[in-house]
Amino acid sequence: MSIQAIFLGAPGSGKGTQAKNLVMDLNFNHVSTGDLLRAEVEKATDLGKRVSDIMSRGALVSDEIVLELLKNNCDLSNGAYIFDGFPRTIDQAKALDEVVLKDFPSKAIYFDISLDVLKERLVNRRTCGDCGAIYNLVYKSPKTDGKCDLCDGPLVDRKDDTEEAVGNRLNVFKETIDPILEYYEQKQRLIRVDAGLKPAEILEKVKVALE
Ligand code: AMP
Repeated sequence: MSIQAIFLGAPGSGKGTQAKNLVMDLNFNHVSTGDLLRAEVEKATDLGKRVSDIMSRGALVSDEIVLELLKNNCDLSNGAYIFDGFPRTIDQAKALDEVVLKDFPSKAIYFDISLDVLKERLVNRRTCGDCGAIYNLVYKSPKTDGKCDLCDGPLVDRKDDTEEAVGNRLNVFKETIDPILEYYEQKQRLIRVDAGLKPAEILEKVKVALE
């Protein structure tokens, strides 16, 4: 049975980038609750309308809404998944085990990085509106301004990558992460990876952790 990967880390810690790498290299499926919620907002569904304000403030959407969305968008009989952005609360961690993973073995990877560097990273982040590739105007700028290197799609900044929302998101992270780490540590399923390393080095460590 393949191992399921739970990615934990602050906004901007590199979870999304590494998830995309693992999908390409090891054929993982990727489910990001942030991406699922943004798609609802984009399509202006009832759910999207309910969560739009919460998300642009950088606050957390309710556990019930996110769990339901997650359940509807992953099927573990398809193989290994990366859970990106879920769990964000201890109740979500428990629900992930009890309702989604059940008997599937899993490991939690914590992308460990000093929060001080993340604000700058996030306000300079740009994402391709077509393929989702992630850039940073300071550290990983696109070859042509405003265009994706991979597919030529338009680079956009996320609504919640403003200074104020980023501040809120980092505060929410600080206030919620410790019990989640403790939960996986107690179950001996936690692996900490230094997310301050170069992306290629981080990828290697993540692959070793999931072997
Ligand atoms: P992300 O793309 O993971 O940074 O998520 C963007 C936003 O979506 C967060 O700031 C929350 O408002 C919301 N969100 C994503 N995942 C969750 C979750 N597991 N629980 C609650 N809110 C979430």
